[in-house]
Amino acid sequence: MSLTEPAFQHCTNPDCDARYPVQETLTACPACGELLDIDYDWDRLPVPRNLREFEARWGRRHEPLEFSGVWRFRQLLPFAPDDQIVTIGEGQTILQDSHAVAAWCGMNAGSLFLQYEGLNPSGSFKDNGMTAAVTHARMVGAQHAACASTGNTSASLAIFASTTRRLQVIVFVGSGKIAYGKLSQALDYGSKTIQIQGDFDDAMRQVQEVCKHEKIYLCNSVNPFRLEGQKTIIFRILESLRWEVPDWIVVPGGNLGNSSAFGKALAELKKLGLINRVPRLAIINAAGANTLWQLHEQHNLRWNAGRPDRAIIQKFYGAMDAAGHRASTLATAIQINRPVNLKKALRALDVTDGIVRQVSDQEILDAKAQVGAGGFGCEPASAASVAGVRLLRNEGVIAPSDRVVCVLTGHQLKDPTTTVAYHARDPEQFERVLGSQGVHAAPYANSPIAVANDLGQIMDVIRRS
Ligand SMILES: *Cc1c(COP(=O)(O)O)cnc(C)c1O
Ligand SMILES: [Zn+2]
Repeated sequence: MSLTEPAFQHCTNPDCDARYPVQETLTACPACGELLDIDYDWDRLPVPRNLREFEARWGRRHEPLEFSGVWRFRQLLPFAPDDQIVTIGEGQTILQDSHAVAAWCGMNAGSLFLQYEGLNPSGSFKDNGMTAAVTHARMVGAQHAACASTGNTSASLAIFASTTRRLQVIVFVGSGKIAYGKLSQALDYGSKTIQIQGDFDDAMRQVQEVCKHEKIYLCNSVNPFRLEGQKTIIFRILESLRWEVPDWIVVPGGNLGNSSAFGKALAELKKLGLINRVPRLAIINAAGANTLWQLHEQHNLRWNAGRPDRAIIQKFYGAMDAAGHRASTLATAIQINRPVNLKKALRALDVTDGIVRQVSDQEILDAKAQVGAGGFGCEPASAASVAGVRLLRNEGVIAPSDRVVCVLTGHQLKDPTTTVAYHARDPEQFERVLGSQGVHAAPYANSPIAVANDLGQIMDVIRRS
């Protein structure tokens, strides 16, 4: 129970470098306030020599830890004893080679892959991280847990609480644009749900205060254990590609937990000699919530060996507040003003020679319609990755023959309001839901055909189409 264990919490600020045992519950370094990593003395741990060794686990799927798409990789996130791990079968995802979406993006057939994280138990990638956070909560004996959420984090924490009955959970959501599918999950899974008059950033600030005062375990992505679980999305992508490293991984950026986890996973695999090169990361912001794009692409903010220029960040947020600017996008899962993992994301961009792009809500919804028509579908935020690939093809940054993986972060059913507004072509609904966000066309709409309750007329409609 001390720093002699091979897993420890490690400050990301190189000028601090403090270490803390994994038995402590921390969401920032007590010494300097910066984000923490979970780090390992790999020399003292049984690391596989080859990623193919994980395939042997498939034969033991009757064991819950081998069934889990997170924990069958637990040698690469070795912070928890096996008997403490909390799993609900997360991480059963698929990587789909999508020719239809590839063609729309301007990619060659066989070059674009969609990683469906919507297949997780609560319908988003958040379950990869939540299983790790809830496991750590168990390790430290927490009874109460909380999160702030644009919807999917709360759905994920709520399902872990309802299925495992281990934690009493409070979720904080904003009063604005939470998607109905997500709100319905928190309510149905029985979590105490507090809807704050404000947006995600307001909810985030409040939940951090509440957790400090009440000793409640915080499950947002400032929790470094959560990001350990999200590393496994990378492992499963590589597994599906038979361990061949793609050229690009493209992911929507909100609070930047996923981007950060991906960068850490890739850096660790490289360091351990388990991959020989690192793919490039493209993080896609919604244009209405583009803090990372602004800072990285416009203001040239860089990781800078762990010493990013704070003055750039402070000036940017100062101007944002002075202008009263608030993030606004139909991709509510990435509607974030101040991404909590900003610095870790800068590190991920550094490690992967990564880039950041922004796409409009129109581009996001058109991409979403393509994913639906050519695949399993996804929620708006997820489609930002596909819209991003199309943009990067147009820019010539991605070549048609590059191997590209888009991470589809959430399930199609999360946000039916937006989907129906796009397809149904009801003018009033279209204007209210989409027009107010700058979406004015639905070129890929698949509208329902109204017809009288009359067989002759129904047959006419079918024959005409
Ligand atoms: C949380 C979420 C995101 C944003 O992920 P970050 O790790 O916060 O950048 C994107 N898409 C969906 C569906 C999400 O739930
Ligand atoms: Zn520190």
